[in-house]
Amino acid sequence: MRTRFTEAQLGDPDLAVAAEQLRSCVHCGFCLPACPTYAVTGNELDSPRGRIVLMQELLQSEEVGPAVVTHLDRCLSCLACQTVCPSGVDYMHLVDHARARIEAAPARSALQRWQRAVLGWLLPRPAAFRWALVGLPLGRALSPLLPAWMRSWLQLAPAQRIRRFDPAGAGVAAPVVAPEQPQVALLVGCVQSVLDADVHDATVRVLQSLGARVVQIRGLGCCGAVAHHLGQHQTTVERVRANVAALQPHLEHLQAVVSTVSGCGTMLEDYAHLLRDDPLAPAAARVSELSMDVLEVVQLLGLPEDAVAPEPKRVAYHAACSLQHGQGVRSLPVELLRGLGHTVVQPADAHLCCGSAGTYNLLQPELAAQLGDRKAEALRAVAADVIAAGNVGCALQIGGRVAVAVRHPIQLIDDALETRRPPG
Ligand code: SF4
Ligand code: SF4
Repeated sequence: MRTRFTEAQLGDPDLAVAAEQLRSCVHCGFCLPACPTYAVTGNELDSPRGRIVLMQELLQSEEVGPAVVTHLDRCLSCLACQTVCPSGVDYMHLVDHARARIEAAPARSALQRWQRAVLGWLLPRPAAFRWALVGLPLGRALSPLLPAWMRSWLQLAPAQRIRRFDPAGAGVAAPVVAPEQPQVALLVGCVQSVLDADVHDATVRVLQSLGARVVQIRGLGCCGAVAHHLGQHQTTVERVRANVAALQPHLEHLQAVVSTVSGCGTMLEDYAHLLRDDPLAPAAARVSELSMDVLEVVQLLGLPEDAVAPEPKRVAYHAACSLQHGQGVRSLPVELLRGLGHTVVQPADAHLCCGSAGTYNLLQPELAAQLGDRKAEALRAVAADVIAAGNVGCALQIGGRVAVAVRHPIQLIDDALETRRPPG
């Protein structure tokens, strides 16, 4: 694609990289059928190709018009387009760059700015988030009096009791130098540690059963994905720097930094890019190398050959976008679950996002609901006993729409190993 950047603009190294990414798009349109928002709206501006044109206009003119805000806000950052693009367009970094530009401009209403500020502050803070959820029953009681956007936020909150993950109670240890076992750092993170602490508990049990020492690194907090997806570039970099600095002294003694939320894993893998010009760049690159989804760590450690599900089930595997497109982990979850004796099926259009996408279902509730309904229908069609999904956002988005349980694959692995553990 031809671009019209000035020499002065190309003097900005970040913009020079974005310009190169824009030029690599040949407008072939192969990405259109892969794009969930294009599938719903049918509008070219809600397709990757259309957004690339809008981003070019934004970056060349340096003017943030309403169209670019609307159509980039509707992008899920699911990266399905990147998976299928024959020209290797780096859509992820392009849209990240454009989002940061939009966020820095006075382009949004006061309500939008307030919503984004609240989400960016609240979600990465587990203690505050948990307290906010304590007020849910009152919020639900007042629901008819609240504006539509607030009602949609309340609908997404889980109905069950909220329990914060307790690392010490789960047997997570402090890191040691020269460990006798493979030592892996658990990214406790933020949202999942409040909304589904059971997944962390299962992760610790499984990895310990497979011989790993699971450790918690002091100072390792939210991965930064929430701020990143909101285009809050400065906050993102501060969060990423803090995590890399916390991990740096331990990198030599770790085999992996483990994520149980695939969105966090994709973010960790991007640390090398985000801090590429920072004094912490070498450590950030190592963190990205060590970043693994929990299922990759299970594969690394190796499941015992006689690990079998106590009750083999028909499992519908929902591939989270951040795992399949962001990290390229596609067949492994299916292989692991089949290895336990489950019958694993996948829904139609498995490449399409469920509409969760970080804060997307809070900020774009209508499109997210349409995508969630499509995904739920496809999952219902395969008539499974249980749905397996490796991302807490997907689990919430789908769980509210289907009658069967949605569980993380590590919980199904935990069930299989449970019978092999000594009692007590
Ligand atoms: S598939 Fe790639 S090259 Fe083709 S239009 Fe989409 S982004 Fe551009
Ligand atoms: S990231 Fe997803 S929603 Fe955004 S343009 Fe690509 S395929 Fe479409």
